[in-house]
Amino acid sequence: MASSSHLAGDAPSFTMGSTGGKTYIVEHLEEELGPWSNLEYIAIAKESHLSGAKFCLSSLPPAFKVPEALSAVPSFEAEHRSVEEIYASDKSRVCLLDPAAAKDLSPEDGTTFDAFLFGGILGDDPPRDRTSELRKKGFEGRRLGPKQMTTDTAVRVTRMVVEGKTPLTEIPYLDFPELKFSERESTQMPFRYVKNEDGEPIMPRGMLELIKKDADKAIDDLF
Ligand code: SAH
Repeated sequence: MASSSHLAGDAPSFTMGSTGGKTYIVEHLEEELGPWSNLEYIAIAKESHLSGAKFCLSSLPPAFKVPEALSAVPSFEAEHRSVEEIYASDKSRVCLLDPAAAKDLSPEDGTTFDAFLFGGILGDDPPRDRTSELRKKGFEGRRLGPKQMTTDTAVRVTRMVVEGKTPLTEIPYLDFPELKFSERESTQMPFRYVKNEDGEPIMPRGMLELIKKDADKAIDDLF
């Protein structure tokens, strides 16, 4: 069973950078805020706060209610405007993290850009390229290697590269980990994660429990 040491809310020390000052923007592209995205966004907000960065959730629908756990994080900002409106005068400062970009993210990109943009979409398997909605808006893109990551992992890896100056290829990854809930129960995740010191995938606090609940529900639905 999982130990608490790989929970993102506890901010593993190797994700920390010294430069700070960056803004991570997640353009929310789903209709609602599902429980998975909620946990991912809380993890991103807490880690951003700890590294001295800002986390902005943009394009929120007018009636969107920001959960208390998110609005309570000091460097979190909720925005109804879209990222193009926010950065209308200076688009060149924004880097879109795009699985289809021709160039991989490098530590030098930390000086070229000061805002990093991500799609607020759940990973799908196989990927449906919904990041294309942001690509169309004309932001310069960078890839985080060939494998699909969850949004919080993509932000974590970006932070390690641009703040921590760790090249993408030197980050310890765990691909498609199998999460074991008991002797007979396990689920394989179709994503790439960052590996912690205990060899476990770093995930938002509460995510393991949610995955287990969803897996149990899927089994119940079969009967
Ligand atoms: N299934 C979605 C991707 C969801 S992942 C799709 O098909 O587009 C959520 C976000 O994390 C993406 O929008 C992107 O900003 C970022 N991301 C995930 N993996 C990435 C990778 N390998 N390279 C660059 N960005 C990535």
